Amino acid sequence: MDGRPADLRRRLGGQLPVSGADYLVRLNPEQRAAVEAVDGPLLVLAGAGTGKTRVLTTRFAHILLQGKAYPSQVLAVTFTNKAAREMRERVSAILGQPAEGLWLGTFHALAARMLRRHAELVGLTSNFTILDVDDQTRLLKQVMEAIGLDLKRWPPNGMMAVIQRWKDRGLSPEAVTPAEDSDYANGRGTEIYAAYQDRLKALNACDFGDLLLHVVNLLRDNAEVLADYHRRFRYILVDEYQDTNLVQYYWLRLLAQGHRNICCVGDDDQSIYSWRGAEIENILRFEKDFPGAKIVRLESNYRSTRHILAAASGLIAKNTGRLGKTLRPGRADAEGEKVRVVSLWDSEEEARMVGERIEAARREGFSLGEVAILVRAGFQTRSFEERLIVLGIPYRVVGGARFYERQEIRDALAYFRVVGQPADDLAFERIVNTPKRGLGDTAMQSMHAIARAESLPLSLAAARALETGAIKQAKARAALQDLLRGFERWRAMAGAEGHVVMAATLLDESGYAEMWKQDKSPDAPGRLDNLKELVRAMGEFENLAGFLEHVSLVMENDDAAEGERVSLMTLHGAKGLEFDMVFLPGWEEGLFPSQRSLDEGGEKALEEERRLAYVGITRARRVAVISHAANRRIYGNWQSSLPSRFLDELPVGEIIVEGGAQREARSHASVFAGGGLYGMRPRRMIEAGAWEVKERPAATGNFSVGERIFHQKFGYGRITAIEENRLDIDFEKAGSKRLLDSFVEKTR
Ligand code: ATP
Ligand code: MG
Repeated sequence: MDGRPADLRRRLGGQLPVSGADYLVRLNPEQRAAVEAVDGPLLVLAGAGTGKTRVLTTRFAHILLQGKAYPSQVLAVTFTNKAAREMRERVSAILGQPAEGLWLGTFHALAARMLRRHAELVGLTSNFTILDVDDQTRLLKQVMEAIGLDLKRWPPNGMMAVIQRWKDRGLSPEAVTPAEDSDYANGRGTEIYAAYQDRLKALNACDFGDLLLHVVNLLRDNAEVLADYHRRFRYILVDEYQDTNLVQYYWLRLLAQGHRNICCVGDDDQSIYSWRGAEIENILRFEKDFPGAKIVRLESNYRSTRHILAAASGLIAKNTGRLGKTLRPGRADAEGEKVRVVSLWDSEEEARMVGERIEAARREGFSLGEVAILVRAGFQTRSFEERLIVLGIPYRVVGGARFYERQEIRDALAYFRVVGQPADDLAFERIVNTPKRGLGDTAMQSMHAIARAESLPLSLAAARALETGAIKQAKARAALQDLLRGFERWRAMAGAEGHVVMAATLLDESGYAEMWKQDKSPDAPGRLDNLKELVRAMGEFENLAGFLEHVSLVMENDDAAEGERVSLMTLHGAKGLEFDMVFLPGWEEGLFPSQRSLDEGGEKALEEERRLAYVGITRARRVAVISHAANRRIYGNWQSSLPSRFLDELPVGEIIVEGGAQREARSHASVFAGGGLYGMRPRRMIEAGAWEVKERPAATGNFSVGERIFHQKFGYGRITAIEENRLDIDFEKAGSKRLLDSFVEKTR
């Protein structure tokens, strides 16, 4: 590096802002103080939308423009790649030229870069491979097999999660004390961990968790390397500090010991990653770690209009144990609209409502890039995706695949395709050994040979391979036999009992759902939810062929569209981002707050769910629309869902309820609540009709005698009589029944 940082100013020459500091004018006094206090440790602790990220990026530019450091001498950590990109853009904008050579990125990206430079210090070479999750698990499985563990009892995925947690906490195998050891794998966890790490090293590979762990170890053990980084990184900037885990914290602390110029910004109310090892305590001990640290609080929210802000603040106030912050509206046009809370009959209607509002907004000149739909769980994107496709509104799923492109959905569709079309070789090949049935390459080769020789589709060739004895291995024969019989059964079932029953049965009987149930990786439950959602979606079609046709059309609707798109993502993925118009669907008990989280984490988890709700609402600049559906269809049965308790907690003066009773006319408690107690509240509410929706599609008034209807279990039939909400139906296959109207669907 030649010359001094101050040369940068000369080199930037005429591109410096004229006044040299008009970027500072865009800050309020507190923000400005946080930007200008470049030397020494600084913690910016402030609520959502108060300009923490703006402070951080401006500070970055300020450091450069003041000649305090070269771009390469600043280490800036962001939480997502998207945030990193935005930061780079902001820095470039202030510099007036592309910002290059920056140490700016996510923890993982930065750690990988460091590790490549010093790989030999931890026994790797610089071209080491970073294993993906599949490879990691395969490797771990080998290790566990080698020591003779029963893998049925102790699936490798579960062990992977334990190891991951150790790595999040900065623990190498030798550092795991007996007290920290887990019960998993008969208490042989540390032994497996050590063997796994050895295997990784032998392969010149590491997993994601290793990136930081290795770097922390090598910095701790090699004083000269650490000293070198101390010289290099004059300034350290960290966004979303509340969500750092221990190993990330150790890494920052080691690096910051040099110049002590570390600036962290965060908000304890937005800590939403404890399930990945994030430790809110990292914020709390900042002052202890860096004595004399300056603490700056920002209190004006520049992002959201007043009602949105007040709704979010009212909600988060229900959490206990907060650090406590003041948050007031800072936008000039601060008044804005109240938050909408919309009650709908089911998730399809919810999707229609969102689609309609987006269309209306588009007509009014809203940019689609400024619209986001934020969901709690991945499976929720399906109904919105389909609606947006129907309306021709371009969208993207941020941080994940589109619904029908997800692995488990493609697998399940392949099964259904073989049911519908036995000659679909591609589909057959995809699932013949998924889950693993011992039908490996040799068996496949035999089938292919017969298929070619006799010009048969693969599934028929498979039957021939059994007849002719071309497949010899007993286990493989039995498994294939079983699968082929399964397909016959499922085919018959699709005709007799309907494709929805068939789909649910197939996923069970084929062992495919079981495969994911056995999978202990963190994303397995989400995949199972996606499969349920798939079965639910099938119920909207008359038969299997119609559904498969629909899917192929949906899949064709690819990424060709240019320009602005609606963003669909999870609430977790939306942290730090902002949009003019934000939809927050699915605010229902069990879904949000998530039952799974509550089961695992109790009251603490509830508070984290509430923080997630706070993050969600505070993403909105001008319009926030929260919704919940009163019914969800589970395997063809309607189940009523109760409005999320978070709806109760929204301050009544900040919201407008649509589609339900006139909430504002009544007191807060009487409409939503019976006191907010888990069990009793929702029932009463439903009975009181508070969320009864007028345009409820299945209301008896909508049915007429003689109409053809569909029931998930009994199939098609005709209505012979109607009495209130009870229908007498003559089913084509199942005879006469009397049923509640809500279990019956109109045929399309
Ligand atoms: P989060 O907690 O969600 O990460 P944040 O505190 O990082 O939010 P920013 O994203 O930096 O907040 O800022 C929120 C919005 O307010 C941005 O659009 C930003 O440009 C704007 N903003 C920040 N400070 C000011 C200011 N002093 N004047 C006007 N607008 C501002
Ligand atoms: Mg931010």
